[in-house]
Formats: sequence, structure tokens, C-alpha cells
Amino acid sequence: MFEKLKQEVWQANQRLPESGLVILTWGNVSVIDRKAGVIAIKPSGMPYESMTPEDIVICNLEGDVVDGSRRPSSDLLTHLELYKAWPDIGAVVHTHSTFATMQAQTGEDLEPLGTTHADTFHGAVPCSRELTGEEIRRAYERETGHVIVQTFQERDLDPMAVPGILVSRHGPFTWGADAAHAVENAVILEQCARMAIMDRLLRPDLGPVSQALLDEHYYRKHGVHATYGQG
Ligand code: 13P
Repeated sequence: MFEKLKQEVWQANQRLPESGLVILTWGNVSVIDRKAGVIAIKPSGMPYESMTPEDIVICNLEGDVVDGSRRPSSDLLTHLELYKAWPDIGAVVHTHSTFATMQAQTGEDLEPLGTTHADTFHGAVPCSRELTGEEIRRAYERETGHVIVQTFQERDLDPMAVPGILVSRHGPFTWGADAAHAVENAVILEQCARMAIMDRLLRPDLGPVSQALLDEHYYRKHGVHATYGQG
């Protein structure tokens, strides 16, 4: 069952180590099939080299396994909270990529310092608040999802215009309409964090780009008036 979905999710997961975002088993990709009411996700703690499409786990939207013999990713409930909150997203990615995780560990937003960032993220990539001890003990993974959604609600951010977050003291989560876009956003977020951290070494007081430059680059690539690419 769900062979095509498993193949797609396996392939997207393989892209994480291939893109240099993930070492060991430190990351996961899921895809939702909203019509079927299921998500397909990486098996927890399995080496990418030996993982096959058959190892991908299919769960319902409550998090119960409905197909597959493996235990699903430990981050399953975080992914589920994002799918529930945001009907336009089709895939979620989590990694511990070095520079995005360094930024997340500081607890500070990733400011847009140039057009590389503005082409994908229409504003700062927010860093969430830290989870409380009570949240961690009660329902760690689900509360991680809640804090992500809460950050977007409190700041009135559109998750399709800022398709990623840094979870404080943890690492990046990105998403997109499909697996390819969600993984691409993870690659771009890592590269933007790398550049920003290096920029701050060169110029510690560097501020964000102007709103005009941010808007120009973002809307050149996104929305009804986009002109970038071949249409
Ligand atoms: P899983 O192997 O369970 O997906 O865990 C990877 C990870 O990055 C945990 O945060």
C-alpha cells in the first residue's frame, strides 16, 4: 500500500545527506496525502544508506501507524501539528544542519541580510521561544509543533511566505507545497544561516536589508506577478 508515496518520501529523505544537511540519522522528511488522510515519514533512527522505500512508515493524522513495520520518526507529532495548522503545506523537513542549528541555539531570529535570503523567505526566519520544562515533560514533540505554530500566530506570519523556523535550542524545520520544495527550503535556510553567521564575523553590527529590496526579490520569484524563471 502507498508504494508511490513511500518512494517519494524515501527519495526526499535521501536528499538530506546528499545535500550535506544531515549526518548520521539527524533529520527527517514527511509528506501528507490529505485525500487519503495519511502522512508518510522516515523510520526513526535508521541509517540513510540502508533505508529502503519499504521502511517508510504510513501514519494516520492521530499518529497511529497504519502501514509499515518500522517505528516512525521521533518527530512525527511535531510534523502532524504543522499539517493540522497549515492546510497549504504538503511536506515537512527537519534537520540538524550545522549553521541553521547554530543560529537556533542562540535563540535569535535569522535576519534577512541579503537577496539570497529574500528570494525565499519574505522576512526574518523566526526563532521560537524555548519550551518550558512542563511542556517538555508533558508532550515534548507535540509541544514543539505547538510552539512553532504559536510563533507564526503571534507574529502574524504566513507560513507559505516564510517557509521555515528555528526552534530555540533545537534546530530548523522547513516546509513547502511538496517534498522537493520543503527540502530545497532546508538547503536554502542552511546556506542563509551560514552566510549570516560569517557576515556577522565580518561586520558584527550588520542590519537587515531594506523592505524595498526584500519585497523586490521575494515578489520577483513568488506570487501572481513573479517574473523569475521560465514560468
Ligand atoms: P528520527 O531518526 O527519529 O527522525 O530523529 C532524527 C532527529 O533529528 C531527531 O530530532
